[in-house]
Amino acid sequence: MPETLGFIGLGSMGTPIATNLLQAGYGVRVFNRTASKAAAATQKGAVLAANSSDVAQPGGVVLTMLADDRALEEVCLAGGSFVERLGPGGVHISLSTIAPATSRRLAEHHANFKVDYVAAPVFGRPAAAAAKLLWIVVSGPAAAKQRVHPILNAIGQGTFDFGEDPGGANVVKLCGNFMIAAAIEALSEGLTFAQLNGLDKKAVAEMFGKTVFACPAYQNYGRQIAEEKFDTAGFRLRLGLKDINLAIQTAAASSMPMPLASLLRDRWLGAVAKGRGDMDWTAIALDVAADAGVK
Ligand code: NAP
Repeated sequence: MPETLGFIGLGSMGTPIATNLLQAGYGVRVFNRTASKAAAATQKGAVLAANSSDVAQPGGVVLTMLADDRALEEVCLAGGSFVERLGPGGVHISLSTIAPATSRRLAEHHANFKVDYVAAPVFGRPAAAAAKLLWIVVSGPAAAKQRVHPILNAIGQGTFDFGEDPGGANVVKLCGNFMIAAAIEALSEGLTFAQLNGLDKKAVAEMFGKTVFACPAYQNYGRQIAEEKFDTAGFRLRLGLKDINLAIQTAAASSMPMPLASLLRDRWLGAVAKGRGDMDWTAIALDVAADAGVK
């Protein structure tokens, strides 16, 4: 009989992930800052906890899927948090995209309560999460990773282990999102270029997705940009800016220039400044098109 898990953060990603845990037979105690957004999970059998601490069972496992470093730290570091309630033998699976330095700080904090911290950021958008198609990168103590392996198997199609440094998996995730943001900029410029030269950008995106760029990032984002579907945010543009900033900060800590990341930061920052922070992060294509005079 699978154990009962705690789950905090029922946003675009958290809700389908929690749902898959329920479908795998786990009991799930959930908490979300905005209680109304927990309805989708509670309707499927999750139990709504009174507060974020109350999701935890002593010695159990809690997953978090909060927006950013600040939200995660607020929830973890508050007095009487779920970490304290987990206590000895407990494990925190941290799914958010955050700075490696934040994971390292949290791992040290959790150790004070004999709780293991496993970083497990994910690749894939809400539809992939719903279809259990996430790719998950993990780092943290070996025994804790082994313990949570079946839980991660219940929400994704595969995990990749990046060692015991708690920040390792976060480095991989930031690396990936930096490269995806670069692909979105490249696709936006390439498809605008094709359009301005009289071509159907959907046909151009389709051709590349089937041939020299036959991989999910180019296929899915290429289609989305060509079809100009920016309003329904699978991944909110302001969270994309968060990830580019985290990559730049992490690079700066090791004195690494990332000129392309700086360009992307300005592109995403400009889109947030224009009020597009809650659109999908592919909406930067609107600025690429506007710069070229496309209405
Ligand atoms: P989202 O839909 O904006 O959900 C964010 C969640 O964090 C919500 O549950 C929100 O609660 C909660 N939250 C935000 N600030 C909080 C605070 N100060 N205190 C407590 N709770 C707070 O974001 P998402 O798309 O699910 O993304 C979640 C994480 O996954 C992010 O780190 C993101 O970078 C990463 N990620 C996203 C995708 C994607 O395609 N969407 C893919 C891979 C990874 P409320 O409901 O109360 O606002």
